[in-house]
Amino acid sequence: MLSKILTKQDCSNCKICCEFDDNDLWENPIIYDDCAECVLKINPLQEFTQAENNGSKYRVLKLKKENDIYPCSMLDRTKGCKLGSENKPFDCKIWPLRVMKKNGKTVIALSPVCPVVSAKPLDEIMCAAGELSDLIFSQARLHPEMIKDYIDGYKVLIEEKD
Ligand code: SF4
Repeated sequence: MLSKILTKQDCSNCKICCEFDDNDLWENPIIYDDCAECVLKINPLQEFTQAENNGSKYRVLKLKKENDIYPCSMLDRTKGCKLGSENKPFDCKIWPLRVMKKNGKTVIALSPVCPVVSAKPLDEIMCAAGELSDLIFSQARLHPEMIKDYIDGYKVLIEEKD
């Protein structure tokens, strides 16, 4: 979705957002039913873990720790996401944008982890985020579990209007 500032080639050279450590395991993407069907077609034995945020329950992939890292089980280290760009979780489609709650407001914030987007001019990032903001805020209203508590270091790009 952010192809203007993050190309497929950028992502396949990096994949940092598809591996988690104990501090960013909260980034393990939310898996909704349609995505779970795609996951199970690829790996019928894939297990899921239940989680809860903002009073809403959701499901994530159960991941195995390897040398202090939890690689996403849908990651093919050579080809990238096995789910493909259409079927990957919404959290992954909008990466490195994140929906957060800051001072009672829902905001779209930029993860500092993506080295490619972090190096782009801010006006290009703002433009790309602005094009997606209606979609992202509408998803967040439908799925409050995707709104995470604000973390220092995430640059707030857009605040939801009242
Ligand atoms: S679902 Fe795909 S894009 Fe999302 S973290 Fe896993 S491998 Fe990466």
